[in-house]
Amino acid sequence: MNKKVYIRTFGCQMNLADTEIISSLLQDEGYVMTDSEESADLVILNTCAVRENAVEKIMNMLDNLKGKRRLRPNLLVGIIGCVPQYYREKMFSMTDGIDFLAGPDTYRQLPFLIENAEQGIRGANLAFVPEETYAGIEPVRTGSISTFVPIMRGCNNRCAFCVVPFTRGKERSRPMKSVIEEVGQLAEKGYREVTLLGQNVNSYFDDDARCGFAELLERASLAAEGVRIRFTTSHPKDISESLVRVIAAHDNICNTIHLPVQSGSTRVLKLMQRGHSREDYLEKTAMIRSIIPGVTISTDLIAGFCGETVEDHRETLSLMEEVRFDFSYMFCYSVRPGTYAAKHLPDDVAEEVKKQRLEEIIALQNRISGELHAAEIGSIHEVLAESESKRSREMLMGRTGTNRVVVFDRNGYSPGDLVDVRIQSATSATLLGNPE
Ligand code: SF4
Repeated sequence: MNKKVYIRTFGCQMNLADTEIISSLLQDEGYVMTDSEESADLVILNTCAVRENAVEKIMNMLDNLKGKRRLRPNLLVGIIGCVPQYYREKMFSMTDGIDFLAGPDTYRQLPFLIENAEQGIRGANLAFVPEETYAGIEPVRTGSISTFVPIMRGCNNRCAFCVVPFTRGKERSRPMKSVIEEVGQLAEKGYREVTLLGQNVNSYFDDDARCGFAELLERASLAAEGVRIRFTTSHPKDISESLVRVIAAHDNICNTIHLPVQSGSTRVLKLMQRGHSREDYLEKTAMIRSIIPGVTISTDLIAGFCGETVEDHRETLSLMEEVRFDFSYMFCYSVRPGTYAAKHLPDDVAEEVKKQRLEEIIALQNRISGELHAAEIGSIHEVLAESESKRSREMLMGRTGTNRVVVFDRNGYSPGDLVDVRIQSATSATLLGNPE
């Protein structure tokens, strides 16, 4: 009888894409995926270590699973991804009820770890495998309209607050040929949108094919005519004019760029080891806007990083006013043990001050998003319908090429359709409209 496996995924799109690869590996071993923890013989938590509360979530879930194991003693539990890679075998002593651990580079070893666990042998494989890209594994995709294609893994940057280099290892790029083949196959299968994924896609480089990211993106857009091509995440110091010109030259490459800045203060950016200044960032966003009219830019912002003064915070707010981001992922700085900041920089901004600054950043972002969205009322946008709206089954939810969320009356359309929608009203998060 085929054993059932339930995978719960936390964190970023990279983890979602990894879960699709893991599902494929386990299906080859005869496992059947289930979306209910209750009916599973094996529960796998694919984890994220970016913020402290991410780890707390895992510990709470493990406590909950311990209860289930008392009722179902044969239930196996595996913790994979960035948390075990970060805490390593110490996790076995942090909490009981874990049968195996695996890191982002060792998912091919999962069948062995599970087999051992079934014989009561607890194990961990947390090796870094510098050449591993899982190229050639056909992911078990969750969506049928929009999907991810990881093009690289790991990161060679050393941002002072970030755990990713310690959990995902050094950068390695997938062969250009395997990426373009996969994008072409997805177009043939009827996917309407493909997002190329990497921690820092701008530093993608296939040594054998001598192919950088701008060329890869161009080839992807030509391999999937009529399919929307998106990519994330970029690093300001690596984004090039040649890449921006490729985006402008191809209609099916979406006019939106996620460009994390983290802080508006050059002094703080230096402390963060981001490798660029406020001025560099403003130059890059001006270059992008001059080449791609109507492009939207989104970002990541950290409030209360080590040593951040009121003046530094004001520089973040003024940079937001100047760039006018479409939306931002906004967080308080949280210390991640093992990072440069944790070792060498004092976490000296008081929690309540961090929270206060984050509130100001969020309030400003909501104001700007609201203004940008209000300016769209009366305009017509091509929207890729993704699903029914949570508001009503008579409404669909989708996104514009510029990555704005639109909810509109169904009018006979279905998820997967490209619909011209006239915008009738707007909030800071959503545009509302009717098909033209
Ligand atoms: S670029 Fe910096 S923030 Fe992004 S994953 Fe790499 S180290 Fe982390």
